[in-house]
Amino acid sequence: MAGFRGRQASTLGVPIVYHEAYSAPELPVGHRFPMGVFRCIYDTLIREGKVSASQVHRPQVPALELQAALELVHDAHYLQRFQSGTLSAAEERRIGFGEAVRSAKLIERTLAEVAGTLVTAELALKHGLACNTAGGTHHAHHAAGSGFCVVNDLAVAAAALLQAGRVKRILILDLDVHQGDGTACIFQGQPEVYTCSVHAAANFPARKATSSRDIALPDGTGDDAYLQVLGGLLPEVLRDAQPDLVMYDAGVDVHADDVLGRLALSDDGIRRRELMVLDSVLAANIPLAGFVGGGAARAIFEAPLSIL
Ligand SMILES: [Zn+2]
Repeated sequence: MAGFRGRQASTLGVPIVYHEAYSAPELPVGHRFPMGVFRCIYDTLIREGKVSASQVHRPQVPALELQAALELVHDAHYLQRFQSGTLSAAEERRIGFGEAVRSAKLIERTLAEVAGTLVTAELALKHGLACNTAGGTHHAHHAAGSGFCVVNDLAVAAAALLQAGRVKRILILDLDVHQGDGTACIFQGQPEVYTCSVHAAANFPARKATSSRDIALPDGTGDDAYLQVLGGLLPEVLRDAQPDLVMYDAGVDVHADDVLGRLALSDDGIRRRELMVLDSVLAANIPLAGFVGGGAARAIFEAPLSIL
């Protein structure tokens, strides 16, 4: 019986997407972006037996196909300058990785993450649910990176699926503590992509964009108030968006211990949030693709970087 369950788990488990390049670049010690987190998530899932090797998909998207998808959303000149390491100093500052954004490893990481998000979205359409162990670079705009986001993987994957006729309507549900401003701007005036962002009002970006639906919450909102808002919001958004696919940015920077968060959710509050989203979307028989989004506990920065 145990063997049967084991086989079931390996063949029917949720597809998980991971690429070793996700955490490959090194940033200066003390940098606020938790580059090691993606490998840490993957290693933890495997070590704790929550994911078996047969569930794991390594994204491999042909370079020309990936480039064509990127150009559906991003300015070709911006992409060319990023990929050749010739962004201006001001552009590099806005992205936040400093000179590291010119490194081959960071360029490779960025492209691997977009490929991973494309593959995750396809797997979600095929299996009903799939998760990337990275993704959610929602601050990247059409012709500019911002806030540790070079290109917008969510937008690129959504645009590629729409163009290929794989879906007619997509909901990008962004519960990262920061507003998905890049995504909102990219799809402004495009009703086939419904953008919904629930975020902390006082957080980055200072100048908010206009999503299809925005909920800006006050500092210290906490579990019960947050979940009450979300519980009312999800049925409305699913009804209004009528999506063929939900792309879910599950940023955990809503947590009380997050270095950049403000909403003061607990571990249990985040667990209840994820169950609420999964229940609402999957019960409506809509495929869901999940992405890590932002989130870094203070403990990560206090621990030796070698554990990442
Ligand atoms: Zn965030």
